[in-house]
Amino acid sequence: MISQSYPIRILLVDDDEIDIMAFRRALKKTAIEHEFFTAMNAEQCLEILTAHSFDCIFFDYQLPGTDGLSLLKKVRSAGINSPVAVLTSQGDEKIAVEMMKAGAFDYFPKDEVSADTLSRIVRQGILLNRINKDKEEAEKALKENNQKLNAIIESTTSMIFSYDKNLNYTAFNSKHAEVVRRNYAKEISLGVSLNEIFGSGVASDQIIYAFQKALDGQTHVEVVEIGDLSVNTHYFEMKFNPVFNDQAEVVGVAVYGEDFEERKQAERDILQAKIDAEQMAKQKSEFLSNMSHEIRTPMNAIIGLSELLLRTKLEDTVYENIKSIKYSADNLLVIINDILDFSKIESGKIEFEEIDFDLHAKVNEIKKTFIFKAKEKGIDLNFEIAESIPEMIKGDPYRLNQILLNLLSNAIKFTKEGAVTLKVENLREYGGNQMDIQFSVIDSGIGIAEEKINSVFESYTQASLDTTRNFGGTGLGLAITRRLVILQNGEISLVSKLGKGTTFTVRIPFKKSDAKAMLHDDQKQEILERKDLSGLKVLLVEDNAINKYVACQVLELWNVHVETAENGVIALEALKKNDYDLVLMDLQMPVMDGIEATKRIRNRVDRVRDSNIPIIALTADAFPETKTKVLEAGMNDLLTKPLEQEEMFKKIKQYGMKIIKAA
Ligand code: ATP
Ligand code: MG
Repeated sequence: MISQSYPIRILLVDDDEIDIMAFRRALKKTAIEHEFFTAMNAEQCLEILTAHSFDCIFFDYQLPGTDGLSLLKKVRSAGINSPVAVLTSQGDEKIAVEMMKAGAFDYFPKDEVSADTLSRIVRQGILLNRINKDKEEAEKALKENNQKLNAIIESTTSMIFSYDKNLNYTAFNSKHAEVVRRNYAKEISLGVSLNEIFGSGVASDQIIYAFQKALDGQTHVEVVEIGDLSVNTHYFEMKFNPVFNDQAEVVGVAVYGEDFEERKQAERDILQAKIDAEQMAKQKSEFLSNMSHEIRTPMNAIIGLSELLLRTKLEDTVYENIKSIKYSADNLLVIINDILDFSKIESGKIEFEEIDFDLHAKVNEIKKTFIFKAKEKGIDLNFEIAESIPEMIKGDPYRLNQILLNLLSNAIKFTKEGAVTLKVENLREYGGNQMDIQFSVIDSGIGIAEEKINSVFESYTQASLDTTRNFGGTGLGLAITRRLVILQNGEISLVSKLGKGTTFTVRIPFKKSDAKAMLHDDQKQEILERKDLSGLKVLLVEDNAINKYVACQVLELWNVHVETAENGVIALEALKKNDYDLVLMDLQMPVMDGIEATKRIRNRVDRVRDSNIPIIALTADAFPETKTKVLEAGMNDLLTKPLEQEEMFKKIKQYGMKIIKAA
C-alpha cells in the first residue's frame, strides 16, 4: 500500500470540457483522496506547475496551438520531474511512443478513462514520484558530499590530481592547476592529456616511471623537482596511486604531491650553516695564527735579549730585574701557546709525533723545571718512577711534557704545604709492542669541591671565582690537557677532597722502542756547554731589526760567522757572490719572502753557488701547515720564534756539522 500524508495532487491538461468532466467523474469514483487541478492550454499548465507540485499529471495529446510532446519537453526543461501520463485518441500509438521516449511513464486512450484505469495509473505515478524524490535527494546528498570533498582537496597546499589510463586529466585541485600555470604557463582542464600540457618528452623519466608503476598497480613515491620557467625550482614529494574499478582493474592514476620545499629549504639551510661554520672556523684559526705570529715576534726579542743580558756581568739588582722580565715573558709565552694549542685542538689541526724518547730523562728534565718553584713555596717534590718502565719508549714527548707540566704546575700552584708527588707506573703490556703508562700527580693542596670536579676540565673554567685573583691562570690548562690525553687514546681522572688534596691520574698508551738510550742529561749538558761552532759561516735572512740583532748576538756567542740580508732578493745576491755553510731564512719579508727565495735557490733560477745549501726556516707561525709549506718549498728544517737557544744550537750544528767536519 502506498500511504500519503497529504491529499495527492492531480493535474489534467485538456481543452475539452466534456473530457474533463468524464475524467473528474472517474477520479471521484476511485478511493484516492486527492486535489484535482485542470489546465486548458500550455500556458496555464506551466503557470500551475510553477506554483504547485503534482503527484501525477495527465496530458491530452491534442492541445490548442501545440501538442503534448512539445509541452512535455518544455516541462522537463523547466526542471519539473513530476510523472506524466498521456491521454491519446484512437490510432495515436506512434505518438504515444514518442511521448514515452520524452519522459512520459504511461499512456491510455481517452475512451478508457475509468476509475480502475485512473486508480492504477495514479498509483504508478505516486510510486514514480517517490522514486524521483528519493533519486533527487540522493543526488543532492551526493552533490553535497562532492562539495565537501572538493573543499577538502582545495584546502590543502598539496597537489591532488588524477589521470585515466591514457593520461588524460580526470580530476585536479587548484593547487595543481596553479603549479602547472606557474611553471609551464599552461591552463589545465578535465580531459586534457598530460602530453598536451607538458609536451611529450618534457615529463621526466622519473615521472613516466612512476606513472608506469602506478598503472601496474603499485603505489610509488618520488621526490620530483618541478619548474623550468620559474627561477627557483620547487620540490614535491609525489605519491602515485593506482585507481581501480569494480573489477579491480587499474583505470587510472591518482597523484598526491606534497610540497617538499620547506624540507628542501631546511636541508639547504643546514648545508649553508655548515659551510658558514667551517668558514668561521677557518677565519678564526687564521686570525689566531696571525695573532700568535704578531705576538711571538716581539716575544722573540724580549726573551732572546734578556737571555743574552743574563749572560753578561751585571749588578745584582739589574740581574734580578732582567730575570723577572725573562720570567714574565716565559709565562706570557705559555699563555699564548695554550690559546694557540686550544684553537688547534678545536679545529682538529693537532698532530702527534711518534718518536723514540727517553722517558726517564724526560721525567728528570720536568723535575728540574719545578725544583726551584717547590723550594720557594716550601713544599716537597717527589718523583717516583717504577723500575719496570723501559728507558726508551715511542710516542709524543712534547705532548707528554705539556700534560705533565700542566698537572704539576697546578699541583704546586694550589698547594701551600706538604708535598707534590709524580708517580710513573707501567700499567700493562699488550698486543706485542704496546703498553699503558700511568702518571699520577698527587698533592696535599686546597682540593676541589665535589660539585666542581666535573667542570674543571671545561675550557676557561676555574673551580672558584677567586682562583684567578689568588692564583692566576686562564682556566685552559686542564681543558687542553684532557684533550691531549684523549686524542692519544688515553684517560684522565681525578679524586679530590676539599682542604686535603687532589690526585690527577693519566693513562696514556705508548709503543715499545728498539732505540738505544740516548746520552744522559749531564752528557748532553756538557755538549751544550761547549757550544762552539767556530768556522761555520751562516747567512741570516731577516727583515726585523731586533730579531736580526738577537739572532746575531746568539750566533756570535757560539763563534759563528754571520752575514745578514734584509729580504729574499738581497739573500740571492749574497748567495751568488759568496759561499756559506747554512742559511737561516725568515718567512715573512718584504720584496721577496723566504718561501719564494728558497724555491729560487733550489731551482737554480739565479745561479747561486750552492743550490743544495742547508736552509732552516725561522718563523713565528706555530701551525702545523707552516711546517709542511716550508718543507715543500725545499727547506731542511724549521725553528719557531721565540728562538730557543738549545734547539737552535742543535739544529744549526746538525745541518752545519758536515761542513765543520770537512773544514
Ligand atoms: P691555566 O692552567 O690556564 O693557567 P688554571 O690553572 O686556573 O689556569 P686549569 O689548569 O684548567 O686552569 O684548572 C682549572 C681549575 O681547576 C683551576 O682554576 C682550579 O680551580 C682547579 N684545579 C686544577 N688543579 C687543581 C689542584 N691540583 N688542586 C686544586 N684545584 C685544582
Ligand atoms: Mg693550570
